[in-house]
Amino acid sequence: MPRINRLSQRLANQIAAGEVVERPASVIKEVLENSLDAGATRLDIDVEQGGIKLMRVRDNGGGIYRDDLALALSRHATSKIADLDDLENIASLGFRGEALASISSVSRLSLLSKSVDEDDSAGWKVETEGQGMEARVEPVAHPQGTTVEVRDLFFNTPARKKFLKTEKTEFSRIEEVVKRMALSRFDVQFTLQHNQRVIHQLRAAASEVEIQRRVSLVCGPAFVENSVYVDVEGAGLRLWGWVSLPTFSRSQADLQYFYVNGRIIRDKLVTHAVKQAYRDVLFHGRHPAYVLYLELAPSAVDVNVHPTKHEVRFRDSRLVHDFLFSSLHKALADVRPAAQMAGQQAVAESSAYGAGFGTGNGASSGFGELASPAGNASNLQGSPVSQGSLGLARQGGESSGFNYMPRSGSLQPGRNEVQDHLAGLAALNADDAEIPPLGYAIAQLHGIYILAQNKEGLIIVDMHAAHERITYERMKIACANEELKMQPLLVPLSIAVSQSEADCTEEQSAMLLSLGLEIERVAEESIVVRQVPSLLKDSNVEQLVRDVLSDILEYGSSDRILAHQNELLSTMACHGSVRANRHLTIPEMNALLRDMEATERSGQCNHGRPTWVYQSLSELDKLFLRGQ
Ligand code: ADP
Ligand code: MG
Repeated sequence: MPRINRLSQRLANQIAAGEVVERPASVIKEVLENSLDAGATRLDIDVEQGGIKLMRVRDNGGGIYRDDLALALSRHATSKIADLDDLENIASLGFRGEALASISSVSRLSLLSKSVDEDDSAGWKVETEGQGMEARVEPVAHPQGTTVEVRDLFFNTPARKKFLKTEKTEFSRIEEVVKRMALSRFDVQFTLQHNQRVIHQLRAAASEVEIQRRVSLVCGPAFVENSVYVDVEGAGLRLWGWVSLPTFSRSQADLQYFYVNGRIIRDKLVTHAVKQAYRDVLFHGRHPAYVLYLELAPSAVDVNVHPTKHEVRFRDSRLVHDFLFSSLHKALADVRPAAQMAGQQAVAESSAYGAGFGTGNGASSGFGELASPAGNASNLQGSPVSQGSLGLARQGGESSGFNYMPRSGSLQPGRNEVQDHLAGLAALNADDAEIPPLGYAIAQLHGIYILAQNKEGLIIVDMHAAHERITYERMKIACANEELKMQPLLVPLSIAVSQSEADCTEEQSAMLLSLGLEIERVAEESIVVRQVPSLLKDSNVEQLVRDVLSDILEYGSSDRILAHQNELLSTMACHGSVRANRHLTIPEMNALLRDMEATERSGQCNHGRPTWVYQSLSELDKLFLRGQ
């Protein structure tokens, strides 16, 4: 029988390091979090050989008292919490008191600091040695703040070292960590050097323009130009940040930053809510891009559920899910021509964009891309969905999508519309008249596109795509206004389920009924489906019910019925819309333009493709090198 013996301090810390210190980037994350917790506003990060040889972080924070230096390197020692109450109201990034102990057990770490109160000394340095990790403190010259130097990561744990990737890969992970931090604290200056070369230098950002510049430096200018700014508050929650327009989707989920009270997290619930908000405007298999900040009372979220604190648990997850979904859903629905134009003009005025078009590099990205409605819609001032103080450029008179009345007939213009058109043409020539955002039709191109002009330029509309979206949105409204019609199944369908799923059908029978599902529990692990929404009677009912139940169990609600129904409506809308090569009269085209202005999500067709593009006169002028 082996005897039980106590592990040495170092070995115990090395075991803890297994969870916290996976690679150089995890060291950088922990050390930067400490600096931010110490109130630093300047962070200088020096890395050599992907961090494997050296990582040095210097900050200008509050520093550490000489007498606390040894404690900082020992496990279960922290200045951030003292009792259980603190644990339930965490405002700092760290609190577990194990990062420095773990890192110093698997590297050569020295901690240099001078605290804000000890101005009589020059500063102190601490290192640990031996299996017991005895601390050695000695005086050293150091300005106020703290420097953490980590050399030779994993030098004493060769098995871990083998898992490290190339210098380049490790550095790019460090870069990603720094980017995430830079997006979480606009007020802090970051400098990142690799092998003595400055890779990123981000000045502290305070104004909207500066903040937007940082987002653009970190996420790329295309993201900022193709996103909308959101700021919504309610029920003790606030959500703000940038979400990409559906036309700017990505093949990877790599541009997704989500912060909860300043802490970056990856969370299933969040991902689900966002995905649901983009449902029906995003191309299949594509991923939205976003930088979003959720703020809520610290007590409403538990951050102590994961060693590296990448996950959190919301006390009221249902509330958070619904808030995220409805805020983003609305933001995306509000992306309409008027708002997009407003955004574009705001950007055009600042004349920061659009340069280079026609100079060769612009040409490669093509007319469509540069001029897409997605383009440039995100200027903070001109942001279409800003609901905060930044001003809301909204369609006049339209407060919610549900007061949009379907026109009778499809595109047959009424008498009024012809008159509108004539008045419109006259208005184009008068200086002060109101011109609708998408202007007035001039012609139809190859039976596919509508050409229109407004005061500032040229608009091209894909008429099938646009009409499809309009029809689809109308059908959804019609469907929502009607009670969900249920239809009894000829032969009730019995399904074997788990006990918790069966419990769920019993407890949530009212919710299921509201979704158009009549389900009865007939045994411990068996249910019978009696009625389903009539629109879905031909779908795979068993699969549908299973999916709905698992949604309800996991998220407290299910939007599957709606999603399935919308899929059907979308297919129907596609067939019911004007096909290419159908001749439209000018009044018909104008009617379509007016419908687009009044319809939610009209910037994309049901498959996420843009429905219209815009080219301003000044952009056209550039094309022809006019005025240069
Ligand atoms: P935690 O962050 O969970 O408290 P750490 O092991 O990361 O644990 O750090 C231990 C303690 O060392 C912190 O609580 C803090 O008091 C101190 N400390 C670490 N880094 C810094 C820093 N850059 N500036 C000031 N104090 C620091
Ligand atoms: Mg820490």
